[in-house]
Amino acid sequence: MDDVVIIGGGVIGLATAWRSLGRGLRVTVADPEPAAKASYVAAGMLTPVSELTYGEEALLHLGLASRDRYPAFVAELEEVSGRDTGFRDDGTLQVALDSDDLALLGELRRFQESLGIPAETLTGRECRRLEPMLAPSVRGGLLAPADGSVDPRRLTAALLAAVERLGGTLVRERVAEVLTEDGRAVGVRLDGGDVVRAHQVVLAAGPWSQDVKGVPDGALPPVRPVKGQVVRLRSATPFLGRCVRGLVRGSSVYLVPRADGEIVVGATQEEMGFDTTVTAGGVWELLRDARELLPGVTELEFTEVRAGLRPGSPDNAPLLGASALPGLLLATGHFRGGVLLAPVTGEAMAELLATGSMPEVARPFSPARFQE
Ligand code: FAD
Repeated sequence: MDDVVIIGGGVIGLATAWRSLGRGLRVTVADPEPAAKASYVAAGMLTPVSELTYGEEALLHLGLASRDRYPAFVAELEEVSGRDTGFRDDGTLQVALDSDDLALLGELRRFQESLGIPAETLTGRECRRLEPMLAPSVRGGLLAPADGSVDPRRLTAALLAAVERLGGTLVRERVAEVLTEDGRAVGVRLDGGDVVRAHQVVLAAGPWSQDVKGVPDGALPPVRPVKGQVVRLRSATPFLGRCVRGLVRGSSVYLVPRADGEIVVGATQEEMGFDTTVTAGGVWELLRDARELLPGVTELEFTEVRAGLRPGSPDNAPLLGASALPGLLLATGHFRGGVLLAPVTGEAMAELLATGSMPEVARPFSPARFQE
């Protein structure tokens, strides 16, 4: 019998598995297509400061805690797995094109400062000195020097390798239902009929976590899919030195550069259920806004377009910890920050699984906040 079976092998399930193995637990991860859903589509920005939103101060602190863990997390992961994760800590530049956009950036700067986060305001010329490909019309910007990025595809490949190296079991099969005995989760039944028994079950199946069979309604997480389309481009020569996020007449777009020349342009945010169709309008909007900020993007090679489903929650924050069903823990609802939040989630869930106690940093995100 395992100590833990994890339903879902995206970045959240895998980070939880790796950290739990490090605590000496026996772990199985069940997923028909590990690391192929939102975690494969994501841009990989690690930008809690740049993405700060009114009303999400608690989430900011979780994001900062996770961002601060990133350098040590990837260093250890790269050593265990022997794989590069594409981690970069070269900052994020937010830029504005017109006076309304600039006013919004000013508000964001004041909000950041009110929370004790120092912000560096730049003129348009200073922005172009940092990023020479920016349009001459860029009016000004805000630099978040510690907001970086990681390549989620490399990160999850490294996590998969690390899980296997530490003796975790990966079952490439869908979980058909959670098994219960005497009102407690005791394992899962796979699609093919096999049973994996475990002392504790972790539900980390992204937006699909909302309808796993065998779980009483009150214990299922209130998550929903939020579609995002992302374009991938490639540059043969250096194009950007860091992440650039932009407000283009009120609508936001970002570009994330990788060391190998890839540039990820994202992302739309659409309430379309489980639809993952790529649309002409979505691609057009992304490229239109990206071109306003960086006219040279139209010269780059177009390599990929893809849509993924963020696991959205009612307050945009994750659900971490015990559910209403004893033995079933939740690690989902990370919405637009699951890659950022992977280190702190993995660590917190492993601590909870190993000791029964949730670390302070993750306590505000208990699923109990949604239970009547
Ligand atoms: P997923 O990666 O979706 O994994 C869930 C897994 O569960 C899947 O592998 C699926 O196969 C499996 N599963 C489902 N049902 C079952 C079942 N019954 N049995 C077994 N397995 C099952 N985050 C950031 O931090 N920075 C970003 O820049 C960023 N950009 C994004 C851009 C886009 C367009 C999108 C869509 C997301 C972005 N995100 C970003 C958000 C991030 O991708 C998610 O928060 C994160 O990937 C969630 O991870 P997860 O493991 O919960 O979900």
